[in-house]
Amino acid sequence: MQTVPWKERVVGEAGGATYIAPVPGPEDARVWFFTRKGGVSEPPYDSLNVSTLVGDESGAVTENLSRIKTAMGERPSAWVRQVAGDGVVGVEGPGFSGEGDALVTGERGFALVVAIADCVPVALVGEGSVSMVHSGWRGALSGISGKAACGMGGEVRAYIGPGIRGCCYEVSEELADRFAGRFGAGVVSGRYLSLPEAIRRDLEEAGVGEVHDLGLCTGCRTDLFYSHRKEGPKTGRNLAAVALR
Ligand SMILES: [Zn+2]
Repeated sequence: MQTVPWKERVVGEAGGATYIAPVPGPEDARVWFFTRKGGVSEPPYDSLNVSTLVGDESGAVTENLSRIKTAMGERPSAWVRQVAGDGVVGVEGPGFSGEGDALVTGERGFALVVAIADCVPVALVGEGSVSMVHSGWRGALSGISGKAACGMGGEVRAYIGPGIRGCCYEVSEELADRFAGRFGAGVVSGRYLSLPEAIRRDLEEAGVGEVHDLGLCTGCRTDLFYSHRKEGPKTGRNLAAVALR
């Protein structure tokens, strides 16, 4: 088990859409954590918002998704209706893939994507398969990342993207206690919860040998990411994606 922070690097601005990718990245997959930069949405959704459910103009979202597709080498996307649960959906091809909070595939030619604003995106790269996880506190507590990794078989590497961390995420005493009981006292400081730390421990329990954590907090970095906690409901959603090469 090793936990490796990776250096913050904006490595791509293809088609205008700006993303952060792990350096070094996996050889057999691509991982993109798109920032909020390089799109066309007006404030408060500026500018690379991918959700039509938050009040943004649908034409702007369409253009943003087109820029993201270009940045991903014109790969189409597969997505799910995220319900903040622990469902893992097997995906065969691009398009809408049902309800759940994690996607897994062994197929090439398209990207698995999730939309986030504080919840944590986790890209998993296995031997001939990839998974993209959307983990809020419910998903983290029920171990959705570990569940997705276990379903992949073989050696799995994990890339934890931008999410809300212990510096910004105050929760109820009851919830802090539940996390400390499940993952150990180190995931909370008083009532402040680090979702990425809980996810790291979940992945470790699931036998994931290599966990890379970007280490960026969405609440601290609203210049780069949308944060529901810091900006309220009128903000956008970031896209996170993984694809087999
Ligand atoms: Zn923070």
